[in-house]
Amino acid sequence: MSATKDAKVVVVGAGFAGLAAAASLVQAGFQHVQILEANGRVGGRVHTSRPFSQNIIELGANWIHGQDGNPLFHLAKEHDLLVEGMLANKVMCSPHSVTPRDYFFTQDGKQLCTESVDRVCSLFSKLTSKAFESELEDRHRALSLGSYLDGAFAESPLAASEDGQKIFEWCKRSECTDEASSSLYEVSASQLGYYIALEGGFFNSLGPEGYQAILAVLLKRLPSGITLNNKAVKSIQWDLKEHLQGTESKGMSHPVRVICEHDEIYEADHVIVTVSLGVLKQHAGALFKPSLPKSKLDAIERLGFGTVDKIFLCFNERFWPEDCAGIQLVWDEGPEDKSVYTAQSDGEAWKETWYKKICGFDTVARHPTVLCGWITGREALHMETLQDSEVEDACVRLLRTFTGWSVPDVSQVLISRWGCDPRVLGSYTFIPHNVNGVKEHEALAAPLPFQRNIPESKPLQVLFAGEATHVNFYTTTHGAYLSGVREAQRLINHYSAKTISP
Ligand SMILES: Cc1cc2nc3c(=O)[nH]c(=O)nc-3n(C[C@H](O)[C@H](O)[C@H](O)COP(=O)(O)OP(=O)(O)OC[C@H]3O[C@@H](n4cnc5c(N)ncnc54)[C@H](O)[C@@H]3O)c2cc1C
Repeated sequence: MSATKDAKVVVVGAGFAGLAAAASLVQAGFQHVQILEANGRVGGRVHTSRPFSQNIIELGANWIHGQDGNPLFHLAKEHDLLVEGMLANKVMCSPHSVTPRDYFFTQDGKQLCTESVDRVCSLFSKLTSKAFESELEDRHRALSLGSYLDGAFAESPLAASEDGQKIFEWCKRSECTDEASSSLYEVSASQLGYYIALEGGFFNSLGPEGYQAILAVLLKRLPSGITLNNKAVKSIQWDLKEHLQGTESKGMSHPVRVICEHDEIYEADHVIVTVSLGVLKQHAGALFKPSLPKSKLDAIERLGFGTVDKIFLCFNERFWPEDCAGIQLVWDEGPEDKSVYTAQSDGEAWKETWYKKICGFDTVARHPTVLCGWITGREALHMETLQDSEVEDACVRLLRTFTGWSVPDVSQVLISRWGCDPRVLGSYTFIPHNVNGVKEHEALAAPLPFQRNIPESKPLQVLFAGEATHVNFYTTTHGAYLSGVREAQRLINHYSAKTISP
């Protein structure tokens, strides 16, 4: 039997990264691949559910980001999972981009005219694009995204226009959703240039099965029994001494031992770890024996992992106009105001006004009477501690105050709580101000052991995949998928090289 077929690989986590890694290995002929997934379901941060009707709600990922070069877009296309008829409207825009059909209201119930909103939003979008396209002027490169945007906006006549500043604060709050940050003052402006936005816009025309259908395609590529649910890994022991002493005949023929919560043990030649950066931040210390090298621990600490939550409000009937794609909330003084965010004297006061961080409520595809509110950062984490009814009441109060419409009570509510989900502990990665993203992503992705440290040990014992390990596509499902393929390819190359060498 060939070395490839013999090699035992354990994949920790069955999100897009883990499934892609396992599917690639199986396709390449690896016969001993096992996925250990802590949850009772696969998908991780992709969670398609049906809480209100037979129609789906995406609690996690919703959009396919870009088409050209996006393997998930191509997979969906190849398997007829896309709905062509939905290409023309909001679904093709950035998730939080403003469409002509968004209604903007101030807290005193005034509806803002589309032109003033558009002017500020267009400028905001132009300014953020400069950061994403690495076109920042030198004076802005060392700044946080928030400080850069504040400075650049202040130079525009729009800053002095009526409602200009308030709309700008709304834009910043909305951008926090894309960056999964509490505030844009936490986010590096210059590092955004390393994120690559694929051509083709945000593509949300997945059919009635949603993201789950793409997961199903990957699952079909795996032999049955390869994925074990409810197997939470508590310890990954690598560079095992028994192995180094060459006692293969005593049954310890593998350099890695993976131990689950109920003490089941899986021996492996290689383990591909795909748990989220949030899980690594909380558990890396206990999870790995010996502990991870300093460069990896530093990367785990330095990279940011923020929380984005969705609040789905289901009403018995629609109370908004048919052409309204979203109700956006513009505060007189936003929680994004720098003085409010950074003031130490602020203490815990922000908890009292956590709901100010809700950008607005978007309509939801296939659910004519459902709205989805978005909230991020520390306010999202606080919201997660509240009862559903308290969140629901706050949302209805906001909708009534801002729109002045007759807003009925909510019939059902569904709230994501990614920050306190013990299997994720946040939503996705961002690059904090003053952090070198490329260096830290690469350090996180580097396989163990580092050969220079322990020359006698087996190579590629512990590999790392997951969205946080991708230099250019972090935060996304395709980044997660490609990171899994990358680590599988690392093993495939390793064994191909072995076969070729004498
Ligand atoms: C609210 C929200 C909205 C998003 N929107 C989009 C979007 O529109 N488009 C987009 O491209 N991306 C979006 N994302 C990001 C996208 O969902 C993720 O980048 C991607 O799904 C991450 O995949 P992953 O495999 O790296 O990690 P995960 O999906 O987190 O998979 C890791 C797996 O490891 C498991 N695990 C954790 N600990 C253990 C353990 N100890 N033992 C065993 N298993 C363990 C987890 O249960 C999980 O299944 C969104 C995310 C969120 C939360």
